[in-house]
Amino acid sequence: MSERKSLNDLGPAKISETGIAPGDYNPIAVMPEMRVCKLGGQSLLDRGRKALFPVLDEVIAARKEGIPVLLGTGGGTRARHIYSVASELELPTGVLAKLGSYVPMQNARMVQMLTAKHGGIYIMDDDFEKLPLYVQMGCLPIMTGMPPFGYWEKRDENSRIPPNRTDAGVFLSAEFLGCKRAIYIKDEDGLFTDDPKKNPKATHIPRISAQELIDRDLNDLIIERVVIEYLSRSKWVKELQIVNGLKPGEVTKALHGEDAGTIIYSE
Ligand code: ADP
Ligand code: MG
Repeated sequence: MSERKSLNDLGPAKISETGIAPGDYNPIAVMPEMRVCKLGGQSLLDRGRKALFPVLDEVIAARKEGIPVLLGTGGGTRARHIYSVASELELPTGVLAKLGSYVPMQNARMVQMLTAKHGGIYIMDDDFEKLPLYVQMGCLPIMTGMPPFGYWEKRDENSRIPPNRTDAGVFLSAEFLGCKRAIYIKDEDGLFTDDPKKNPKATHIPRISAQELIDRDLNDLIIERVVIEYLSRSKWVKELQIVNGLKPGEVTKALHGEDAGTIIYSE
């Protein structure tokens, strides 16, 4: 450790402090085979049984084949509502992040009950230690997609809504576990040039790099913007896959590691 006179001397971590250069970061892959999937909030869960049950059937079938799956739930309309109410009350972003965490938790609890007879098990955000056991026992672990930043969430420059919501939480879980892909199950065939619900001229993008996507600066995205930034500097997750849960078979393809929907990759 270098000697310091005061706290003001504290700068970024230097090689001399750890003996290891930052570029030597080679973390172990904790559970690289896990398929970490987000169940869309507004795009899927809010659509009810018609949308959700067929997706869960495909997930359970894959799980029975021995494919390890971890589900993270989105929030959806109820989360948007609390963000809107709390924003109007001028509450800080950290409060919004805390409030917004309850809705995906409710969704995770519902998905757990729906899948209980097939091994669905609700896990808390720091239950990663138990994942090996749950996987070996054939369970289907389900957690909130929301990362646990809560009051400590940082504010985005242009918004008071927490930038790290459930897409980000699912990405960060996949990155921690050492997975190559993070899978997003939503209600469109993947990424389009614009929101296909608002712009009928929008065209599908089957494959695009994170950098190209940042450069194209599209009006609207199907995934939280912060995730694209994370992807461009992640160690393990090199691909985001966005599939349409409303189309039979797409989730199965994704869980089998096949290319379906859109792949956003980083070099
Ligand atoms: P989630 O329910 O997982 O939070 P969102 O509702 O936040 O998902 O995002 C999915 C929605 O994003 C889609 O239903 C689609 O209407 C919209 N969307 C916005 N921009 C795009 C885009 N460029 N390509 C595809 N979908 C888009
Ligand atoms: Mg969303």
